[in-house]
Amino acid sequence: MNKKVDVIVIGAGVVGGAIAYYLTKKGKSVIILDQDEAASGASGGNNGQISIIDREPGIELDWAKESMKLYKEYEEIDEFETDLELTGGISLFYNEDEIRIGREVIKKYNEIGYHCEILIGEDIKKQEPYINTEIVKGAAYCKEEGKLNPFSITLGFIDNAVEKGSKLFNKTKVLDFKVKDNLIQEVITNKGSFYAEKVVVATGAWTRDLMSKLDLDYKIFYGRGSLMVTNPVEACIKGPIVPGCFTIGTLYEGDWNLLGLTQHKNGTITIGQDTRSFNDYNKGISYEGTVHLAKLFSEHFPELINLDIIRVWSAITPHVADSLPIYGFSGKYHNLFVAAGLKGAFTIAPAAGKMAADMILEDTYDHRVEEYSPARFEKGEKYEN
Ligand SMILES: Cc1cc2nc3c(=O)[nH]c(=O)nc-3n(C[C@H](O)[C@H](O)[C@H](O)COP(=O)(O)OP(=O)(O)OC[C@H]3O[C@@H](n4cnc5c(N)ncnc54)[C@H](O)[C@@H]3O)c2cc1C
Repeated sequence: MNKKVDVIVIGAGVVGGAIAYYLTKKGKSVIILDQDEAASGASGGNNGQISIIDREPGIELDWAKESMKLYKEYEEIDEFETDLELTGGISLFYNEDEIRIGREVIKKYNEIGYHCEILIGEDIKKQEPYINTEIVKGAAYCKEEGKLNPFSITLGFIDNAVEKGSKLFNKTKVLDFKVKDNLIQEVITNKGSFYAEKVVVATGAWTRDLMSKLDLDYKIFYGRGSLMVTNPVEACIKGPIVPGCFTIGTLYEGDWNLLGLTQHKNGTITIGQDTRSFNDYNKGISYEGTVHLAKLFSEHFPELINLDIIRVWSAITPHVADSLPIYGFSGKYHNLFVAAGLKGAFTIAPAAGKMAADMILEDTYDHRVEEYSPARFEKGEKYEN
């Protein structure tokens, strides 16, 4: 029988990784379980962008600010590389209406101390010289945005936790739970049972399925996002480039194919993203979507059309019906903490993980996360998919 530990963390993505890292730092015994392996979910398949102006002022931006400091600390104390670069980022607008809404949006961030402006025409080229301003009519620039290395960060959290005594079990899928007196007594996996005082669910897109084993119906769904990556080339894209509809909130639900890209420290450029709604965790690639993405890239960067695309992949990422994370202790199972559906988690995971570790150990409680409580989905209603 596996020895009982302080905490079991289910899910070895950036969110579970950050929580395990801080719990281990606090001297707790931790087991991390993943159905596949560390960074095999959305955390290993994304664009590495730090996004600010698609977040509501409040705890998320506080987490973002603190996370940037924490990323620097990990490097300073030589724990792991993050490749963090605050290059400034732009969101792309294609017409006067979008630019007008963009102006309103950035006003809100300027008022709380961020450095944002609307760039028009040739000014966009000062940030991104290769962009086609025949198509892109304006851009919202935010100086505090940037990029990082999602693999290095996710594995950095997990490897550090393991070095300090935590145990990682790969290919260990949680299938069910044994419950008594509103407490999880046993976590049942394909490799046997595990026991802990507290259980953390950080299973991203898979959270709704897993929580159904506890008769809970969390309104957390998922989509499949595809990216492609080029061979390494000389620096030509400065900061993260994102679709303006993320910023002005006009992104429609369901399938979409919009241009967003990042050039990484090693010179490769990840180009996204084709997004499709699926219900079966299918990680296939859409041929039409990939072709459309390549066309979008060529139109936006006509001088870069000879770049070689060396790989295309998909990753599955969650979204919560009310767009808020599911974060906090369950109202029903008193030793269950959930951390799932954190949007663009790389901007906030270090601080959110640190706070989660404090909450799990009952060192602190922060009223700002009250509206994220899983209890909002524990009232017994069933949801349509
Ligand atoms: C194409 C794409 C581009 C993106 N671009 C960005 C970006 O530029 N910047 C950004 O910040 N974010 C981006 N994101 C979102 C980002 O990747 C996610 O917010 C983040 O990775 C979520 O982390 P997580 O730890 O919650 O989930 P995941 O990384 O998905 O981790 C969940 C883990 O749980 C495991 N698991 C699930 N069920 C079980 C079970 N029953 N038993 C055991 N283990 C289980 C899975 O195997 C997985 O490893 C992007 C996402 C996609 C798909």
